Amino acid sequence: MILKDLSEAVGVAGDERRVGEVVIDAVREHVDEVQVDTMGNILALKRGTTGPDLTSKPDERPMRVMLAAHIDEVGLMVVGHDSDGFLQVRSVGGIDARLLPGVLLWVGPERIPGIIGIKPVHLVQQEESRKVATIEQLVVDVGAKNKDEAKTLAPLGTNATFATQFRELGPTVRGKAFDDRAGCAVLVEILRGEPFPFDVWAAFTVQEEVGLRGARIAAYTIKPDCAFVLEGTVADDLPKDKDTSPTTELGKGPAITVMDRSFIADRRLVRHLTSTAEALGIPYQVKQPGIGGTDAGAIHATREGVPSVTVAIPCRYIHSPVALLSLDDYDDTVRLMRESLSRLTYRTLEERE
Ligand SMILES: [Zn+2]
Repeated sequence: MILKDLSEAVGVAGDERRVGEVVIDAVREHVDEVQVDTMGNILALKRGTTGPDLTSKPDERPMRVMLAAHIDEVGLMVVGHDSDGFLQVRSVGGIDARLLPGVLLWVGPERIPGIIGIKPVHLVQQEESRKVATIEQLVVDVGAKNKDEAKTLAPLGTNATFATQFRELGPTVRGKAFDDRAGCAVLVEILRGEPFPFDVWAAFTVQEEVGLRGARIAAYTIKPDCAFVLEGTVADDLPKDKDTSPTTELGKGPAITVMDRSFIADRRLVRHLTSTAEALGIPYQVKQPGIGGTDAGAIHATREGVPSVTVAIPCRYIHSPVALLSLDDYDDTVRLMRESLSRLTYRTLEERE
């Protein structure tokens, strides 16, 4: 399963090369061109099947559709070594310090096993047990005897990720980095299918988690007429004291963004997705507006502006050591994207409300 390979690959923002290799191996046979740009974004072209007469306005270049998913993940970076051989770390991307003590890590490209140090419960005073240590107060233990050994094992700038193996659990799967390897897997599945009537440019982007940095460059290069961003997003469907609307829920289908903190989705593309889903009976949900941000935030504001929308698989516990998603949601996301793309023409973007 491509999601397994992508989930278990290590690629903290700024060092995504290994995930990129998995992506290139997975799509090479199914696209016409693959290039890696100066940032490390992987750009793959899948040419359209028909001439420009069907998919573009007369006398204009053929339509170009960008599909984007980010290959980076949140993690930690080594920023210091202490005399006892412990590593000091900072987060790369958003990580909640509450969940870190005692967590297992893969440190560096060779996946040295590490653990985030934790004081045994026997020694914790009652007052202390109520406090949350900041990332600055935590240390990573790789078994080094002293500072020199720690420096050799994990020099400054070494990244660490959660050491989580992928598992199937009935109708769900769990693993690390589903934000956004779930989106990357959907994008791989789309590229492996039949071509569309227009050119598709897939962008597997870098450094989303630290500020949508790769996508900005990729969109500038691709010059798309519209963009679909594929994501693994926040599912917040655990039991609550108060009955509030969840961000998204597992098992209710792909989540379509209408607005988040980074952009407002193009209403024509939202309508195109929802009407395709309704026509074919594919379940979907609208993500609760105002939460999070995606590569669409950078892409939609590139050059003259790019009509953009985000479609995401709901995932519980993202940005933690393990996330969980529904395989039905996964399949429905692939299907909704394939069907929506095969019905997309330049007229979709000409209609005004
Ligand atoms: Zn993401």
